[in-house]
Amino acid sequence: MTASQHSQQQPVMLITGGSRGIGAATARLAAQRGYRVVINYLSRRDAAEQLVSEIEQEGGSAVAIQADASAEDGIQALFEAVDQHFGRLDVLVNNAGIVDQVSRVEELSYERVERMMRINVVGPFICAREAVKRMSTRFGGHGGAIVNVSSAAAHRGGANQYVDYAASKGAIDTFSEGLAKEVAADGIRVNTVRPGVIRTDIHASGGLPDKPESSAASIPLGRAGEAEEIANAIVWLASSEASFATGAVLDVDGGV
Ligand code: NAP
Repeated sequence: MTASQHSQQQPVMLITGGSRGIGAATARLAAQRGYRVVINYLSRRDAAEQLVSEIEQEGGSAVAIQADASAEDGIQALFEAVDQHFGRLDVLVNNAGIVDQVSRVEELSYERVERMMRINVVGPFICAREAVKRMSTRFGGHGGAIVNVSSAAAHRGGANQYVDYAASKGAIDTFSEGLAKEVAADGIRVNTVRPGVIRTDIHASGGLPDKPESSAASIPLGRAGEAEEIANAIVWLASSEASFATGAVLDVDGGV
């Protein structure tokens, strides 16, 4: 087998929001496990390209693709780019997501709730649609796996912080449950990881840069998690080691 034939057999993982945080840790680990990795990002081209260089320096294969994973045209362009680069897709990690400033429900604007749902819910739905079209044995694909990144907030509710965020992740949990049943016979497994508080930039973007430290006392394991600890769960659920897991929700949250 030539080197090029060998690389064409390597599985391809697409990670939305792969430039930083949990998505970037997942990209690094997946590349170490032999995936060719597609790192989608919105605006931080520097971070995405730096990650591609790191992966390539370690002998892995990765490409960075800018696209708004909450917009239908952006998602379509993203999947078409994957088709062009690799001609196959084995794993979708629906990871891109946002929080917003701490607010009570009576303070929320329509625009904020609409944006939260568009990025955290509508985007993952449409990404999954495009992945299913490519992976499903129903359409001539060879199967695959989808891992959705939810949050412990989905079962805790986010009161006095961001109920809209928590509700968006609750929607992801239900989406995963239904999609898992819908596509199980088509060779696609769909699972969910629910991280607790993880040390990434997302907290600063929501105005709580110290949340990992300030939450530690309320977490049974006594600390926030690291992005790599979520990446381990995502990559495991995507792998054949999890071949009998579908519709599963894996809480990786230090025990909250
Ligand atoms: P993060 O550090 O803020 O990184 C967010 C990533 O998403 C970045 O790569 C960003 O791209 C990308 N992104 C945001 N909006 C996008 C869009 N519209 N299209 C494409 N990419 C977009 O976040 P994180 O903490 O790693 O969180 C990742 C996921 O885990 C999210 O779904 C989050 O809700 C979930 N989660 C996180 C925690 C936590 O404590 N960190 C806990 C529970 C769940 P740019 O670099 O281009 O901006």
